[in-house]
Amino acid sequence: MKPVSPQRGAARKPAAAAARPKPTRRRKKSDPARTWARTLARKRPGLVPFVLHELAALYGTPRRDTRLDPVSELVLTILSQNTADVNSERAFQALRDAYPAEGPVTVHRVTAPDGTELPPEGWGGRGLDPGSAPDWAAIERAPIDELMEVIRPGGLAPQKAPRIQAALRHIREHTDGVGYDLAFLGALEPREARDWLTQVPGIGKKTASIVLLFCFGLPLMPVDTHVDRVSRRIGLVPPKAGPDEQHEIYWHLLAPEDVHAAHVLLIQHGRRTCDARRPACDRCPLAPRCRFLDAKAP
Ligand code: SF4
Repeated sequence: MKPVSPQRGAARKPAAAAARPKPTRRRKKSDPARTWARTLARKRPGLVPFVLHELAALYGTPRRDTRLDPVSELVLTILSQNTADVNSERAFQALRDAYPAEGPVTVHRVTAPDGTELPPEGWGGRGLDPGSAPDWAAIERAPIDELMEVIRPGGLAPQKAPRIQAALRHIREHTDGVGYDLAFLGALEPREARDWLTQVPGIGKKTASIVLLFCFGLPLMPVDTHVDRVSRRIGLVPPKAGPDEQHEIYWHLLAPEDVHAAHVLLIQHGRRTCDARRPACDRCPLAPRCRFLDAKAP
């Protein structure tokens, strides 16, 4: 029998090492929103640019209007929950009248070249008159019955009054004594800024994204009822995706520079063509690629 050379013997693995379990390769946790965006790009190439191009041709390229200061935008958005924008404008104006304050005047309407005053893009009301932010400290301290009475024109006052006070309290207590100022959010990474705002009681991803997109230009898509419906019908998002999931999908689906236009155009399409009950598909330029009409649309 051939003797085993000392060298070959030494090269063998010791018994303990051979028994050691192989290190398991850690698999990266998959992100369903990113996976959806990649699959859509592969299976329906060019869908997002097609939608944006057709809608911009139909409604015009959206303007980027200057909006209110961030706290006013936040409170106005709370007031607009489940009511028409004209009602929330009335309620916001009532806050200015009941709790006036000195401060920079913000302009909410835009003057077109022909002199016509227009509401901000994506906003359903007529736009607020120029004015300063109300006295936030007085609103936070106001007796709740009094505040409810002031904002009654906006509807759902019993829910919105405590929500506004809780939001103001949270902002004051979590901004190191700077008062009611959210300017620091503009310097944060977009989703970090959204996480900060969604810690505010009563503020979800939609409201947070509205404030961050319109006040700071952060590329976060607010998914309201129109964006939700139109996106699911076209198939930009899965048919059963809720707004929360859609917020995450749009983060991966859109280039940062397209977020504002996508938001405004999808809202306009929902209001003017893709109606909830009777969508006008016969005059819709998205029809050739809409999954509402054809489950296999490209
Ligand atoms: S084709 Fe019809 S359902 Fe599809 S986006 Fe246009 S209006 Fe809406």
